[in-house]
Amino acid sequence: MAEPDFYLSDEQRELQRTLREFVAKEITPIAARCDAQESFPKEVFPMLGALGYLGLRFPEDVGGSGGTNLDYAVFCEELATGSAGIALGLYVHMALACAALERFGSASLRRDWLPPALRGERIGGWAFAEAGAGSDAGSIATRAVADGDTYVIDGAKLFITNGPIADFLIVVASTAPERRLKGLSLFLVERDRPGFRIARSLSKLGVRASEMAEIVFEDCRVPTGNRIGREHSGFLDALHTLTLGRIGSAAFAVGLARAALEATLGHARARAQFGQPIGSFQAVRFGIADMALRIEASRLLCHRAAIAADRGLPHGREASMAKLYATEACTRIVERALHYHGASGFMSESPVSRFYRDCKVFELGEGSSELQREMIARDLGI
Ligand SMILES: Cc1cc2nc3c(=O)[nH]c(=O)nc-3n(C[C@H](O)[C@H](O)[C@H](O)COP(=O)(O)OP(=O)(O)OC[C@H]3O[C@@H](n4cnc5c(N)ncnc54)[C@H](O)[C@@H]3O)c2cc1C
Repeated sequence: MAEPDFYLSDEQRELQRTLREFVAKEITPIAARCDAQESFPKEVFPMLGALGYLGLRFPEDVGGSGGTNLDYAVFCEELATGSAGIALGLYVHMALACAALERFGSASLRRDWLPPALRGERIGGWAFAEAGAGSDAGSIATRAVADGDTYVIDGAKLFITNGPIADFLIVVASTAPERRLKGLSLFLVERDRPGFRIARSLSKLGVRASEMAEIVFEDCRVPTGNRIGREHSGFLDALHTLTLGRIGSAAFAVGLARAALEATLGHARARAQFGQPIGSFQAVRFGIADMALRIEASRLLCHRAAIAADRGLPHGREASMAKLYATEACTRIVERALHYHGASGFMSESPVSRFYRDCKVFELGEGSSELQREMIARDLGI
């Protein structure tokens, strides 16, 4: 049988092969420990930076390695087979913080921050969500008030991945509350700014190798030059960043589901009951076939969205469909993986129990499934 992604170029196959080796050597062996300790292995940032992977999709003038959205999807899938938690921490840095900075930041912000960030020497985070604003960005209450050649930021951001370890955050704040979505702006806020405070670290059900915090801004003064993009255009800029980000979320779901399938194939061959491997029972075989089918459908949707973006074609609906389908399929696939592992999969020591805790978040973040369905329906004209 042909490889399911036989259409990838020779360079993309090589990228896939080297990443597979990297993940097997550097990520998979530490995944369980990082999950148990709820700590992100910060050394992974400079390792991936030195190999040029953090710079994927970024232009060379800011220290990037170039490459396409399809390359990036290949990267995300491989990474998530090793650890969805580590993948999430890297994703927030690359696909949200650095991507927004690269696309909308001023020349001086790009020059000062992107090269060290793409080498993995500075870690970024994305501060959008608040206690009162999750799916509804129009409810963002963090204020940024212009004062001379500065803005003064006040408010609190919740569920911020990389919050405890980030050197800088891209903060979504309201510069014109009465305009709601049309009054949002983006700011780069350095961790050492007076008025920037980590209120608390948060412990999670899954993706525990990524670290999370609540961040408070109290009278936090940043120069006007720290604004990213035009004043009040923050929602559209964030939306653009998140749309491309959805391709990454879909690819993570494919990678995590693939890890679950591979574990299940091994278990179905090795585990015998009633005198035969459980993989010889038709009910199990059909279930495993469905897992493989859903993974390939997810990957095709994900790669289609990436290719559309690479060709400069509209890709909002494609990215939403990929994210929606792949993340829901992943949850189903991982649930089946645990089911076919029986009690052994339910044990904390089993990677499958970690996959089970990890998978759900991809349906929630980056716009929940309901929001993706809403966007798809709107794009269909209803
Ligand atoms: C592990 C993890 C990491 C995260 N990292 C970050 C981060 O780095 N930065 C950041 O800013 N945020 C982060 N978040 C927060 C994430 O962005 C939010 O979880 C997401 O925006 C959804 O918001 P919410 O959780 O408040 O859910 P809510 O918006 O309160 O939604 C709750 C439920 O209501 C449904 N719902 C809401 N609105 C509608 C609607 N109009 N129609 C139908 N159903 C609707 C949702 O689908 C969901 O099922 C993270 C969250 C998690 C769990």
